Amino acid sequence: MKILKFGGSSIADLERIKNVLSIVKRSSQKDDIAVVFSAFGGITEDLLKCAELAKQNDPDYQPLLLSMEKRHLQLVKNLITVQKQSAVLTYVKIRFNELEDLYHGIYLIKEFSPRTSDYVVSFGERISAFIMAEALKESGLNTHFVDARDVIRTNDRFGNAKVVFPTTNQLIYDYYSKKKGLSVITGFIASTDKGETTTLGRSGSDYTAAIFAAALKADVLEIWTDVSGVMTADPKLVYSAITIPQLSYSEAMELSHFGAKVVFPATMQPAMKRKVPIYIKNTFKPEDEGTLICETSETNKLIKGISSLSQISLLNVQGSGLVEVVGVSSRVFGALAQSLINVVLISQASSEHSICIAIKSEDAEVAREVLEKEFHYEILAGEMDKVQIMPNMAVIAVVGENMKHYPGASGRLFQALGRNNINVSAIAQGSSELNISAVIKQSDLQKGLNALHEAFFLSDNKVLHVFLVGVGLIGKTLIKMIQSQLNKLQEEYMLDIKIHGLANSRFMAFDEDGFDLSTVPVPSEKDLPMNLPVFLNTMNSMNFSNSVLVDCTASQEVADTYERVLESKVAIVTPNKKANSGSLEKYKSLKKLSGQRNIKFLYETNVAAGLPVINTLQDLILSGDKVLKIEGVLSGSMNYIFSELSKGIPFSKVVAQAKEKGYTEPDPRDDLSGMDVARKILILGREAEQELHFEDVSVQSMVPEDCAHIESVEEFLEKLASHDGHFTQLLAEADKKKEKLRFMAVLENGKATVGLKSVGSNHPFYSLVGSDNMILFTTERYHEFPMIIRGPGAGADVTAAGVFADIIRLGNYSR
Ligand code: ADP
Ligand code: ASP
Ligand code: MG
Repeated sequence: MKILKFGGSSIADLERIKNVLSIVKRSSQKDDIAVVFSAFGGITEDLLKCAELAKQNDPDYQPLLLSMEKRHLQLVKNLITVQKQSAVLTYVKIRFNELEDLYHGIYLIKEFSPRTSDYVVSFGERISAFIMAEALKESGLNTHFVDARDVIRTNDRFGNAKVVFPTTNQLIYDYYSKKKGLSVITGFIASTDKGETTTLGRSGSDYTAAIFAAALKADVLEIWTDVSGVMTADPKLVYSAITIPQLSYSEAMELSHFGAKVVFPATMQPAMKRKVPIYIKNTFKPEDEGTLICETSETNKLIKGISSLSQISLLNVQGSGLVEVVGVSSRVFGALAQSLINVVLISQASSEHSICIAIKSEDAEVAREVLEKEFHYEILAGEMDKVQIMPNMAVIAVVGENMKHYPGASGRLFQALGRNNINVSAIAQGSSELNISAVIKQSDLQKGLNALHEAFFLSDNKVLHVFLVGVGLIGKTLIKMIQSQLNKLQEEYMLDIKIHGLANSRFMAFDEDGFDLSTVPVPSEKDLPMNLPVFLNTMNSMNFSNSVLVDCTASQEVADTYERVLESKVAIVTPNKKANSGSLEKYKSLKKLSGQRNIKFLYETNVAAGLPVINTLQDLILSGDKVLKIEGVLSGSMNYIFSELSKGIPFSKVVAQAKEKGYTEPDPRDDLSGMDVARKILILGREAEQELHFEDVSVQSMVPEDCAHIESVEEFLEKLASHDGHFTQLLAEADKKKEKLRFMAVLENGKATVGLKSVGSNHPFYSLVGSDNMILFTTERYHEFPMIIRGPGAGADVTAAGVFADIIRLGNYSR
């Protein structure tokens, strides 16, 4: 036998109801079934709203009641053929007349007790199941309507009654041994042994279905709803939530306890006892597998799902009087229990100085009163503070049996929340290790859920969210590289990279889902005009965890924002040297900020493009080595110029050629001045823990004095020809010594110099040709023979590759 339950959302309108009719029909052809229905979608809510209005003596309950009646009558007219309509319409009308009398009573006496409430809401299920039974009859099924109050016995805790199982099981069994055909059962409602109507708690129809399934020893319980199973998080709050294929009863119970309302927590108990498997299915997509809840949990995921409870208040009971005093907590919980206040979460520090209790906000004031009454004397004596209430909180919980076996769940939870600037006010982990919960601000809830979802479910594929400023040659090359490697990164490194923001000097564009990279997206007129503060604000408001600003500009303005960016917990990757070669204070403060906040600031491409210079240096320093000397040919353009010069071509010609080939900046003097090299050695020096200021670097410019102030580049090149002799002579002198001219930077004994030197054949720079860079680190460990790094040190390709490598490195750090 199979029990099917359809929730209010599955029968919220005519279209949906037709779906349900066909599912029930199909199922009844295959199996012996019974069906449980909730009230039509939203009706329980409206019945309660009516009562609240009536209680407040507000006659507006009448039009609301009328519209509910209309809605039901209309459904009857649409579902039942005219010949059979009148009996059903009469049934509905009589029920609404009864309701009208009830509300009138509430209106007059302005009182609405839990007992009355249960009776009032029972009409929702009584009417819906009756109409559905009749509609199914129309489809040719032999149905009979079952008012569950006749068979489910409970105590008289109205609103949340406890089932008396022995009696209930017997009643259900007896009933079914007499009745044949398809029973259509009211969900949610039951009765006491005095015949008073009770309910099993909001959303309790699931429980009704489980009670029937257990009593009738059903083979399967199917809960049909509006989503394809229990998902990794509430899909209304986390859009990327996915269906969990299988859950253990305990996991499902824990998830639903903490707010996954897709299945009512108590549902699992009777099913577990009789080992009835529960399937959660989607009425609108019956072909979807849905979720199986059974004895065993499956998958190797650390957690199964994330759920949350809103409208929570945090109560803090604290004071010196609590320390080492036996019985304080039992008094706290005793007082709350007596007032029927449900405690959602408790956390107590081992100092015992305070106890933190999360409860529903609606209970907060009463809880404060009872606690202050209980501890009246302690408060008077100053041994305990007044009870503090933090309102507008939410509980977020991660659930799964695997947490027992693997460490790291709480680490991941707190890291994900912390990285997103979400403050945790209290935490608790059940000793079953089935859940870890944290209390956070209600306003942080959706962000928190999404951050955790990403950390636990998408983290097998960690997503890096990139915001790229500077879509020039390097930026575009980078985008192409990312695109070409994306599959490999996803499959082999579990890393996904999404670009959400792009800007050049004139325009900027954003895409929440990540730009399609199949063609390089470039911001243009159709997008927004570039505005750096707006760009950064938009980046922050998108609020992705693992965001990174990639600065492929050479802009001072962008570099000036780095502190702010790191403070907003966004990492930075950049070839832009401006920040690190600015003031020493700035350099230090960025490093400190990045270290303290654990937000990465990576700039391998500041020196020698993609060559691993900075990382190597950092590794040396971190592992305790001491740098004695750094020598570097750090400018590809300068090295090209001086290698060509040695072929006998005049200096001015070589410079002009280098410019033509694009090896120099548009104005070659920017290279010849040595300033670029000076910035690089400054950065290397700082990385080697030297307190270097820019002024400390002595630079020998290769721009002759009388060429420095000429406006046009052409005139400069002409004028430069008058100095060709000087360079030819330098070359001849070097040749005589069998040496070569190299434009190099040296850092030794705390002094940095940049200039032209000649080196002999035993020097590693001697053999350097073309536009290659070479860096030598002489350290305490690499003393006799320095460590040498050599290779192409300029160009869009190698720079973009270096930036890309830094981005991938970020993926490793943020795992
Ligand atoms: P029904 O009317 O069928 O009883 P409910 O509204 O009670 O349906 O429950 C289904 C809803 O539960 C979904 O629409 C979804 O928004 C919400 N929900 C919350 N958490 C989860 C979760 N983890 N998985 C699936 N749905 C969830
Ligand atoms: N109709 C009831 C409610 O809305 C029970 C249910 O839907 O399961 O709470
Ligand atoms: Mg429900």
